[in-house]
Amino acid sequence: MLVSAREMLVKAREGKYAVGQFNINNLEWTKAILLTAQENNSPVILGVSEGAGKYMGGYDTIVGMVNGLIKGLNITVPVALHLDHGSYEGAKQTIEAGFSSVMFDGSHYPFEENVAKTKEIVEIAHSKGISVEAEVGSIGGEEDGVVGAGEVADPQECKAISELGIDFLAAGIGNIHGKYPENWTGLNFEVLGKINQATGSMPLVLHGGSGIPEEMIKEAISLGVAKINVNTECQVVFAEATRKYIEEGKDLQGKGFDPRKLLAPGVDAIKACVKEKMELFGSVNQA
Ligand SMILES: [Zn+2]
Repeated sequence: MLVSAREMLVKAREGKYAVGQFNINNLEWTKAILLTAQENNSPVILGVSEGAGKYMGGYDTIVGMVNGLIKGLNITVPVALHLDHGSYEGAKQTIEAGFSSVMFDGSHYPFEENVAKTKEIVEIAHSKGISVEAEVGSIGGEEDGVVGAGEVADPQECKAISELGIDFLAAGIGNIHGKYPENWTGLNFEVLGKINQATGSMPLVLHGGSGIPEEMIKEAISLGVAKINVNTECQVVFAEATRKYIEEGKDLQGKGFDPRKLLAPGVDAIKACVKEKMELFGSVNQA
């Protein structure tokens, strides 16, 4: 059964570890992530961007697939199905479709409008026991056409939005979606410390978790980060493993063209990547 992400993240913050949000793209992705969570006895958040939602044939398809896999694979660890960087309409649609958690990303609106819309989404979501992530100050890089300038959030704005009843908060601290450039200056821990102080015990979310060095991840967790989003890294390892399979001509041997064989190395690569992240974030055996 899907659960809200609230409880698992409050627990993570208290226990000084983070739960990974791994974005899904299809059945293979979803299966790989769920099985790895179960094998490692870890809570997990499945992230779905609006673009991925469209790709998979709509939110109803995703809810059906995820619920079916949880049942069919005997997944008993806590699983949240979460809308990633949702628009106002997208948040409403996913709440209706049966997601258990939503992010309303109003960071591109003027602050007052972000506050007003976030408040409205919180009301609708909480009436159904669904958790809400809000965002202040956009995150660097590009995700599904949404480009962030790599801003750093204002702790006072974080405080104001954290008082709207949201469950967890994404705040830009120099993190970037996608691959990190060579000249990246790292996470801004001074600002993270201020945000942490200003928002009390609110679980904080670190977007763009692919490729952030280990020490920075650990320091971020010590400063209140309880959810870390990983997307790009799984895509890269999947593509690498699939390319290797084809370059070695394995699809031409016997029934190597069978999609269950062709996609297996990629699935194994995602599983290894997710396991590594769960170990780094400290969520293993926290289910
Ligand atoms: Zn993000």
